[in-house]
Amino acid sequence: MASASCSSCSSRRRRRTSIPLILCPSCGVKQIVELTANTEANQGRIFFACPSHEKGGSGCDFWYWEEGYIKYLNRKGLIEQNTCAKLLNEANQREIQRGTEEIKLDADVKKKSMVQEIRKDADVEEFKQADDMLLILREMMVMMKLMLVGGVCSVGLLVCCFLVLWFK
Ligand SMILES: [Zn+2]
Repeated sequence: MASASCSSCSSRRRRRTSIPLILCPSCGVKQIVELTANTEANQGRIFFACPSHEKGGSGCDFWYWEEGYIKYLNRKGLIEQNTCAKLLNEANQREIQRGTEEIKLDADVKKKSMVQEIRKDADVEEFKQADDMLLILREMMVMMKLMLVGGVCSVGLLVCCFLVLWFK
């Protein structure tokens, strides 16, 4: 049975499609595996590759996006025309869903950053107000000090004048 030869693959990752996995036509050694892309540009996109395929281009060269793999199977007569159409339709639906999920994610991120910005603005405003209050308080303190000094001085002056007049 085909799935038995790749029991480790199927237990590691649950399959998302019903696309048949063929024996790799390039190397003829391993069965093709269904994988999910994890790069930023293609997050969640399904692709099919030979387990011997290496990222750098070395190893087996068999590698297709979902749609390309379906078309490949159809070209080689491995699936019937109506099966091909059904699978392509499913792949299309998945791509549309993936697209809307990305847009939703984008919107969420934007909303979050906007809320954060508003909060930041409010913080700044509050801080400014507190700063103003502190400035006014400090000015008042200086005024009071001046008044106190002025008061003491004028009282002293008055006492001096009084004393001078008294002892004259
Ligand atoms: Zn291969």
